[in-house]
Amino acid sequence: MSETLDSAVQTYIQQHRASFLEELAQWLRIPSVSAQPEHAEDVRRSADWLAGALKTTGFPVVEVWDTPGAPAVFAEWPAEEPDAPVVLVYGHHDVQPAAREDGWDTDPFEPVVKDGRLYARGAADDKGQVFFHTLGVRAHLAATGRTSPAVHLKLLVEGEEESGSPHFRALVEERAERLAADAVIVSDTGMWSEDTPTVCTGMRGLAEFEVRLSGPDQDIHSGSFGGAVPNPATAVARLVAALHDADGRVAVPGFYDGVVELTERERALFAELPFDEERWLRTAKSYAASGEAGYSTLERIWARPTAEVNGIGGGYQGTGGKTIIPSSAMVKLTFRLVAGQDPARIERLVRAWVAERVPAGIRHEIHFGGSTRPCLTPLDHPALQSLARAMGRAFRQPVRFTREGGSGPAVDLQEVLGAPVLFLGISVPSDGWHAPNEKVELDLLVKGVETAAYLWGDLAEGLRDAR
Ligand SMILES: [Zn+2]
Repeated sequence: MSETLDSAVQTYIQQHRASFLEELAQWLRIPSVSAQPEHAEDVRRSADWLAGALKTTGFPVVEVWDTPGAPAVFAEWPAEEPDAPVVLVYGHHDVQPAAREDGWDTDPFEPVVKDGRLYARGAADDKGQVFFHTLGVRAHLAATGRTSPAVHLKLLVEGEEESGSPHFRALVEERAERLAADAVIVSDTGMWSEDTPTVCTGMRGLAEFEVRLSGPDQDIHSGSFGGAVPNPATAVARLVAALHDADGRVAVPGFYDGVVELTERERALFAELPFDEERWLRTAKSYAASGEAGYSTLERIWARPTAEVNGIGGGYQGTGGKTIIPSSAMVKLTFRLVAGQDPARIERLVRAWVAERVPAGIRHEIHFGGSTRPCLTPLDHPALQSLARAMGRAFRQPVRFTREGGSGPAVDLQEVLGAPVLFLGISVPSDGWHAPNEKVELDLLVKGVETAAYLWGDLAEGLRDAR
């Protein structure tokens, strides 16, 4: 990495920062709320606006892709070198609903800059983070003197992420050839904090179940029959009580088979993060940290699979008493999965576990509510190393590594395209995603531009090494 290249990048960004922010503000004025049908036209307008901006940026191929729902935008900029690695950037152009009366200090769709922050719905999630790639690639070209990026650059910006990406998987499968890539960069995430830049290396997966247990064909008198027939509410309670062992481990046999364990290095890196458990507990609105024995809180959230009871019910729940044995009871369960766990296999294990534990006279039904796979890029992957270096150059300090406990559609890209997923996000927890007064820190947004400007050259080499 050369200092002259870095300063050329910085100079270029300084010269174009103002116009970049003006353009972003134009995009933010379009209320592309995918969840509200009355904004369908706005979501389309947002896609068209982005397509225009990407053409202006210099992408030779820009297309708006229709889906049965909201349109996605695809752009492509091949490198001069025919053997250049291919990189696909993912983001979304739709936003969460927002109205002044939700508690916004200013109009959510009239961007305002105050104290170095840009306030608007979508400022951080995700228009700001998509848009930093436009100035990023131009700074990369200006500083290197290239006429095309060092990687074959592709961009896919969907329009339904805030509505659960219902057509995304099908779109990616349908267009898999156009989207093919050696690596995927997801720019729809954040980092640890303003002073601690981090790269996320993976997300947990998810498997959802609803279990319904039925006893008598209707609610029956607990005096006439109680103690002599099985009670489905008791059976649900026993099932839930058996879900974890005394160490907080999930007791479904085979659940941990194949789980990719944390390495000592990862554990050490997580432990170095400035994590304040008291403060975290306040954010969690909870009064004690608890979970699987032998793991820290961050390890439990990021790197360990879990089982949670999301809802439980059955029998009489009105005022006063009602002396019955209820006819049925239910529990909703979700399992967070980590690398090495296959949701289809987890489904089989959970079905077998429930079937085995249901007592005689209780019938059971299990509804499998779907799943998302986990994803994880190993720390020593050359592409991840490139990303960490590029971010470190922009932030003038070494970056640390995190993971994400939640689950997301980016995994579809990993699965269908068979490429590692890397997360480049500059948002911070205070940015207020999905909340009133969403904002992005302008300094961090510019660091995002700078990271993208350094990334393509480094990644071209990193991905060649990985071949
Ligand atoms: Zn998002």
